[in-house]
Amino acid sequence: MNVVIVGAGASGLVCAIRALENGHKVTILERNNKVLKKLLLTGNGRCNFWNENMDKKYYYTSDLLSLETILEKKDLVLPFFDSLALIYKSNNGYLYPFTGQAISVYNALLNKALYKGANIILNKYVKRIKKENNKFMIECEDEVFEADKVVLATGSMARPNLGSDGNGYNLAQSFGHHINPVYPALVQLESKESFLKDWDGVRTLAEITLEENGKIIKKEMGELQLTSYGISGIAIFNISSLVSKGLALGKKEVIKINFAPWCLNKDKLKEYLDYQFSLLPNYNLKQILEGFLNYKIVNIIFKLLKLNDLVKWNNAPKEKIIDYIMNFPLIITGTKSFKEAQTATGGIPLEEINPKTMESKLVKGLYLIGEILDVDGICGGYNLGFAWMSAIIAGDNI
Ligand SMILES: Cc1cc2nc3c(=O)[nH]c(=O)nc-3n(C[C@H](O)[C@H](O)[C@H](O)COP(=O)(O)OP(=O)(O)OC[C@H]3O[C@@H](n4cnc5c(N)ncnc54)[C@H](O)[C@@H]3O)c2cc1C
Repeated sequence: MNVVIVGAGASGLVCAIRALENGHKVTILERNNKVLKKLLLTGNGRCNFWNENMDKKYYYTSDLLSLETILEKKDLVLPFFDSLALIYKSNNGYLYPFTGQAISVYNALLNKALYKGANIILNKYVKRIKKENNKFMIECEDEVFEADKVVLATGSMARPNLGSDGNGYNLAQSFGHHINPVYPALVQLESKESFLKDWDGVRTLAEITLEENGKIIKKEMGELQLTSYGISGIAIFNISSLVSKGLALGKKEVIKINFAPWCLNKDKLKEYLDYQFSLLPNYNLKQILEGFLNYKIVNIIFKLLKLNDLVKWNNAPKEKIIDYIMNFPLIITGTKSFKEAQTATGGIPLEEINPKTMESKLVKGLYLIGEILDVDGICGGYNLGFAWMSAIIAGDNI
């Protein structure tokens, strides 16, 4: 078969290698002047390419059943990387190349694709694809390519400067595919609270609870980065997909921050504070709170409750203080844009492809893989993980 793959990103290259190994002739068309531009930036340049705990619970999608079918092929991924002579290491189940450099994964994929005979054509922007008499005509600015099968591996619209600007959705739409609304994910969250300038620069371990229209929908634990625009950090990234969608639907999104996750509950925190003040009766409240809270957070709580700097525990509004420490509310008003997002939530519904082959249910011979589909994972190697799994399935079933 003559196969054309649109996009030489993570999923495109893996699909190419697999299709070549299955005896097909493969051309990859890439709009950029080099392959795998995004991959080089992943994991802060270290490329967290897989996670040993691969499970549907780490993904957001409109079609969990199809995702489950795709996940059935997860055991093919590490042997695939072994076949590229890539040595990797695990950090609590998060897999990285042993070198700690994304360029090792880049080289491993590119070397294998070239060795197997991939025809990689750079600076080729695919404008339109048509199907005529069982053949696909892939139109670029200055050239038309013909193929028996076409794979759309164009990514989402996260980081448009790296080539994935959402144009792949239009290519899929021209074949009748639908697009579930697409929003930024794995992205920083914005707020308009007046205290943001006071907590800028704080990094702290905390538990967060996401409330949507007053209902708890997710809890996460991790290091938070408190900034002048709002809030960031892995725990925030992991809920950002839900927040993006909720805000777009006009829902009220509030994050409650527990700055004392080491303490079981509010009663225990009160017990702890009572105990400390029984040992140190001359201390004022700030002196004890600063033993476990960043001083900027202490100052904000004091400001919000209009407390005197020297107030003692016995004269303080104990319940309100404990509530702010363990249930600090932050109203979210927006997210950073696709320019900052690591991925996107939404895309072509999995319902429209056969998850055993990644072939479109609407157009025979058209395959869709990677981030163009409505699947997004949390941090930890899940997004590249989905790119590899979907690419291997397509490459093996073309
Ligand atoms: C900063 C950052 C860090 C990340 N870190 C991680 C991480 O550590 N672990 C993890 O699992 N995930 C991570 N991700 C997410 C991961 O990189 C993506 O999920 C993954 O690259 C998606 O692969 P893809 O092949 O679907 O799309 P992409 O890798 O985006 O590739 C799409 C390719 O298609 C090309 N293209 C688009 N349209 C056309 C067209 N019309 N014609 C020709 N070519 C076209 C693009 O130029 C691009 O090269 C990170 C993302 C970012 C931005």
